[in-house]
Amino acid sequence: MKDRKLLMIPGPIEFTPGVMRAMGMPTTSHVAPNFIEAFGQALERMRDVFLCPSGQPFVVAGSGSLAMDMAAANLVEPGDRALVVNTGYFGDRFGAILERYGATVNHVRARAVGDAPALADVEAALQKGGYKLMTITHVDTSTAVAADVKGLAALGREHGVLVVVDGVCSVAGEEMRQEAWGIDLALTASQKAIGVPPGLALMVVGPRARGAFHKRKAPVGCYYADWTQWLPIMEAYEARQPGYYGTPAVNLIWALNVSLGQILDEGMGARFARHRRLSEAFKAAVTALGMKQVPVSADKTAMTLTAPYFPDGVDRTMLGHVKEAGVIVAGGLHPEIKAQYFRVGHMGAVNASDILTTVGAIEYGLARVGYKFEPGAGLAAAQAVLLK
Ligand code: PMP
Repeated sequence: MKDRKLLMIPGPIEFTPGVMRAMGMPTTSHVAPNFIEAFGQALERMRDVFLCPSGQPFVVAGSGSLAMDMAAANLVEPGDRALVVNTGYFGDRFGAILERYGATVNHVRARAVGDAPALADVEAALQKGGYKLMTITHVDTSTAVAADVKGLAALGREHGVLVVVDGVCSVAGEEMRQEAWGIDLALTASQKAIGVPPGLALMVVGPRARGAFHKRKAPVGCYYADWTQWLPIMEAYEARQPGYYGTPAVNLIWALNVSLGQILDEGMGARFARHRRLSEAFKAAVTALGMKQVPVSADKTAMTLTAPYFPDGVDRTMLGHVKEAGVIVAGGLHPEIKAQYFRVGHMGAVNASDILTTVGAIEYGLARVGYKFEPGAGLAAAQAVLLK
C-alpha cells in the first residue's frame, strides 16, 4: 500500500522530482564551481520570475518571516512611519516586525474577516502623509483573501511611499508583475508556489528601495539581515565569483535553481493561467458541495489556495477522514473563525489530477461525517471547469 499522502496545504507543497533530486545531491563546498554557477543562475532567474528586470535579488537561508524581517530591518529607521494594509494574520505580523525596528505603524484593516481594505480607505490614510513605506500581504494565507496589489501599489507610488509586498503565498502562482506594477520590494519563501522545500528567504529589491537603503543614517539593527553584508555576496555569485558572509544553503539553492528553471520553461503567463484555472475548478467543487468560502467575493479571492467554511453540522473531524482518503489539507488559522473553516493549497506543480483527487477526498470526508449531498457533485463541477 502507498504510504504517501498528497500534501495540499498552503505550504510546504508537493515538489517536483527534479527539485527533490537536487536536494539529494552530495553537498559541495559553497565555493565549488558547480555551486557558484547554480547560485549565479538562480539569481538571474529570480528577476524573471518576479518580473523585475532592474531589481536586486537576495537569497538567504531562513523562512519567509526572515524575508519580512530583512525588508523591515533594511528599510526602516527609528521614527519612520509605516502603513500596513492589513488583511489578517500576516499583516499583524508585518506590523509587529516594523515596530521592532522603531517604526510607528498604522494599520488599515478590512471591515470584516474575509474582506480586504477598500482602496479609498488606504488612499485616505496615505493622504494624511508622512509614510515612508506601506506593506501589502498579496495573499493572506489565513483567509485566502487576495489584495489588489496592482491598485494599491499605484496608490503608494502616487503618494511617494515605498511599496513592500509580502508575496509569500503568491509569487510564482498568483499574478504579480513587480516592476510594471511599481512594487519596490517583493518577498517570498521557498516552500510555496516557487516550489522548493522550506528554508530560503527570497526577495527582489527595486531601485527606489535600494536608494532608500543607501540613504539611511542609522545602522541596520539586525546583524544577520544587513544588506550591507549580503549585497556584495549576491553580486559576487551573479558575477560567478565565490563569496562568504553566512554559509549558503547549498542544496536548497541547487533546488531553487532547478525550480526557477522549470517555472520559466512553463512561462509566467501560462503559470498564472494554470493557477487560475485549477483554482476555479476547485472553488466550483466547493460551491457545488454546498460550502461557502471565507473571502467575501470572487475578486478578493486567492488563486493559490481556497478557504471553505465547513457546512452546517460538520466540524474539523472531517479533515481526519480526508486524510484517511489520502489527502492532507490544513485547518483554520484566523483566530476569529479558526474552528469554522479549513484551507486547501493548490500552488506550484499542482495539476488537474491533484485537484480531482482532493475534491474526491473531501467528498469522502463529508460523507463519512454524515453530511447529506450528492456524491460526485463536487467532482462534476470541477470537471466542468477543467473541460472548458
Ligand atoms: N506571509 C505569508 C502570507 C505567509 O503565508 C507566511 C507563511 N505561511 C509567512 C508570511 C511567513 O513565512 P514562514 O512561515 O516561511 O516564516
